[in-house]
Amino acid sequence: MISYKDLGLVNTKEMFAKAVKGGYAIPAYNFNNMEQMQAIIQACVETKSPVILQVSSGARKYANQTLLRYMAQGAVEYAKELGCKKPEIVLHLDHGDSFELCKSCIDMGFSSVMIDGSHLPYDENVALTKKVVEYAHAHDVSVEGELGVLAGVEDDVSSEVSHYTKPEEVQDFVSKTGCDSLAISIGTSHGRQKFKPEQCTKTADGVLIPPPLAFDILAEIEKKLPGFPIVLHGSSSVPVEYVKMVEKFGGKLSDSVGIPEEQLRKAAKSAVCKINIDSDGRLAMTAAVRKIFAEQPEEFDPRKYLGPARDELKKLYMHKNKEVLGSAGHME
Ligand SMILES: [Zn+2]
Repeated sequence: MISYKDLGLVNTKEMFAKAVKGGYAIPAYNFNNMEQMQAIIQACVETKSPVILQVSSGARKYANQTLLRYMAQGAVEYAKELGCKKPEIVLHLDHGDSFELCKSCIDMGFSSVMIDGSHLPYDENVALTKKVVEYAHAHDVSVEGELGVLAGVEDDVSSEVSHYTKPEEVQDFVSKTGCDSLAISIGTSHGRQKFKPEQCTKTADGVLIPPPLAFDILAEIEKKLPGFPIVLHGSSSVPVEYVKMVEKFGGKLSDSVGIPEEQLRKAAKSAVCKINIDSDGRLAMTAAVRKIFAEQPEEFDPRKYLGPARDELKKLYMHKNKEVLGSAGHME
């Protein structure tokens, strides 16, 4: 049993309370390798933003859970080395699907876990989430629950259609489970194709404009749970510049569409205090790598293409922290 406290990590409790009060959201960035970790930490130290490092089931398969945990421990020391006086870094399990998995992460030093029972019948979701909360809270670890289903595909999480969160369920769910934050479904979705082209309108130059998020449902949820931390998954903006850059250098990313930044800015000012961004990072890195390969075909040193990919990712995350989530300046 390793406590996250011994690794210098923090849980989400204080971080979320401050974010809800301050009208900003904490970035939750996924990582699978060293370059992504470096980009996240460099960006968050330079913008003085607290951060949630997320480990998905795909990441555990790709990079190994133990290795990722040690990387998070290293991230705390790295942040200090870069001049951060008091790193506020959470190591979070993204989309945990069983009690056993959540327990194993808690036992090896994670400071926060998500138990995603959103696909289960309501009562089973309550029972599973409650069981995880009881174990997690005994170790001062935070728990994110989920109500409502997001559409889209990301790692092992996929659903054809989305089901918006029912505001009439949220109070009961939170009081019965004791969870610390709640992921909701109001129209965001996983992956780079967040909406079908027929759901969107088109600009003159063919860019897809998605339908707006269901802010009315968010407002109702906030009324039922005043000040309670709300989480948005699948909140990449899928920047047109990156999609165009990938395609310019040989990629194919048809019908890409994300959540416009102004909508995320609006959400971040509400009780939404954790915003998950993964696809945008994938796009940034892929665009940078494709550019190098196309322009310098003789290059074969991995540092020469992973380095620029890392720098592009850092630039993207600094932009998110400063211009979209408002989390910049909230860490010493
Ligand atoms: Zn998710």
